[in-house]
Amino acid sequence: MGVKSNQSQSANLLNYTNVYRCPVCRHGEISNLSLMDAFACNFCNHIFSADLEQQVIQMADSQLALKWRWNGRSWQGVRGDGVELTWGYWLAGIVFVLLPTAIVSLSAYLFPPLPGSRLSWLPVIWVLLTFLSHLCCLIWLIIEYYQFPVFRYFRVLTGRFLTRFQFQRSNS
Ligand SMILES: [Zn+2]
Repeated sequence: MGVKSNQSQSANLLNYTNVYRCPVCRHGEISNLSLMDAFACNFCNHIFSADLEQQVIQMADSQLALKWRWNGRSWQGVRGDGVELTWGYWLAGIVFVLLPTAIVSLSAYLFPPLPGSRLSWLPVIWVLLTFLSHLCCLIWLIIEYYQFPVFRYFRVLTGRFLTRFQFQRSNS
């Protein structure tokens, strides 16, 4: 590697004077906490301890050792010592959603309601509810795992929607 490419690289290196997009919420910016080897996000308030030598930051306010490496442009998740969501977890999640749905569908298929009866729509709704409720559980678990600031997102989105709405009204 030449000196020139080294210089242009060092401009993109992770350092405490720059601000970076937050790897968790991907909305806020993380900047250095003064007098500390850490960054903090101005949107989701997560704190990250930094290792400039390795160009790695780690979420400091979580039990999970979630890490990201700065590649000069963006963050890349670092697989490491932390608990990772491996394919086994994803498979378990899919089974968690599909198995109860399959059981309920099977029972609806085996014991179909009498055609024309008042509650003939019930099995279909029941299957749908089973699927959606289990899916919601799974999504909630994933949100909790990654500590996504869902409610902040929601607040920002509704805020944006409202200002746009007011803008349109004042224009018309
Ligand atoms: Zn953030």
